[in-house]
Amino acid sequence: MTDAVRMTLEQVHELTIAVLLAQGFSSNHSDAIANTVIAAERDECRNHGLFRIPFYVHALRAGQASGNAEPTMTDLAPGIIKVNAHYGFSPLALDRGHAALAARVKQQGIAALAVNNALNVAALWPEVERLGEEGLVAFAFVASSPYVAPAGGTKPLFGTNPMAFAWPRANRSPLVFDQASSVRARAEIQLRLRDGKTLPDGWALDPEGKPTNDPREALAGAQLPFGGAKGSSIALMVELLAGPLLGELLSGGELVIAIDPVRCVDSGNRAAQLEHGERLFARILEQEGTRLPSDRRYEARIRTLREGITIPKPLYDTLVSFRTGAYEVPNVIYQGDKILRAHQTRPAVVTIDTA
Ligand code: NDP
Repeated sequence: MTDAVRMTLEQVHELTIAVLLAQGFSSNHSDAIANTVIAAERDECRNHGLFRIPFYVHALRAGQASGNAEPTMTDLAPGIIKVNAHYGFSPLALDRGHAALAARVKQQGIAALAVNNALNVAALWPEVERLGEEGLVAFAFVASSPYVAPAGGTKPLFGTNPMAFAWPRANRSPLVFDQASSVRARAEIQLRLRDGKTLPDGWALDPEGKPTNDPREALAGAQLPFGGAKGSSIALMVELLAGPLLGELLSGGELVIAIDPVRCVDSGNRAAQLEHGERLFARILEQEGTRLPSDRRYEARIRTLREGITIPKPLYDTLVSFRTGAYEVPNVIYQGDKILRAHQTRPAVVTIDTA
């Protein structure tokens, strides 16, 4: 990477916390957001790392989210714990709900967390991975803003609606996948716009409903679901689970479901369950060209703990300016398809969105 800044993960942590506190987030929200940002950088999921901070800051400055709302928890039913984020960002709400959910699942075999009124701009794997670390099977679903056309249609309707899954493994990190219902997450298109790259075929339609390879046209048009009608149905399911089911009409909901595998077998023979899983994973890996989802992240984790990470210098400069409490974005920020701020003398380096 040219014109890049190398940082240790400790430096990422210090910078993130300093920026969030200086911009007006409470220390609870700063800690929770920083943990997701650092985890994303550590695992080389850069769409959800430092690249996201200008969005968090902008959303706070624009009054779209609260920087100090304390989430509250209530039991809706024995197996359903509601966390109301009160329009704060999701990481704190998820942190607060995690221990209660894990305890409830161990007590009764299955339970769910219903998160309402949260602004979620993060990846979902952290919430399912930590449940997997506790020996639980977990699912998470988030409904995001309408960007994806239903199969056969041309207008944005579904969110990019990610879902994630975790399966526990003995003496190692869980198997996790975490994927959008669109062909790729929206941030991937924004990154290609930033970097002056075109899109592969099949990612998006322009505002007239014609296939496009132009990221700007794609952002103004509609993204496509993965796998045609099948991905469209997954997007629909996620929309229903994280929207209407939780009483959310618009984005703001997240449903996390966890199951204790010990409670799913008569004998309570957990070892056999996990062994069967391991046999399946081994058979996948016997085939050349395969890998398990999450292995890329776990390999990156080992590398970045040792070598640190790099970020584009313009992004680093923006974050350093935010650390002073200033809010001058020297680049271009897209929110949805609207350019919120443009500065002609430098290239666009910060493209952000809710997806
Ligand atoms: P990707 O297409 O990059 O990856 C999706 C999943 O597929 C990952 O679990 C990945 O594992 C796995 N995978 C990729 N290649 C292989 C392979 N060859 N073999 C096996 N597994 C593979 O992700 P998306 O673009 O769909 O989504 C990116 C992120 O964006 C997600 O974390 C999602 O939660 C987030 N998102 C958040 C939204 C929000 O509103 N908060 C909205 C939409 C997306 P690995 O990690 O190991 O590469």
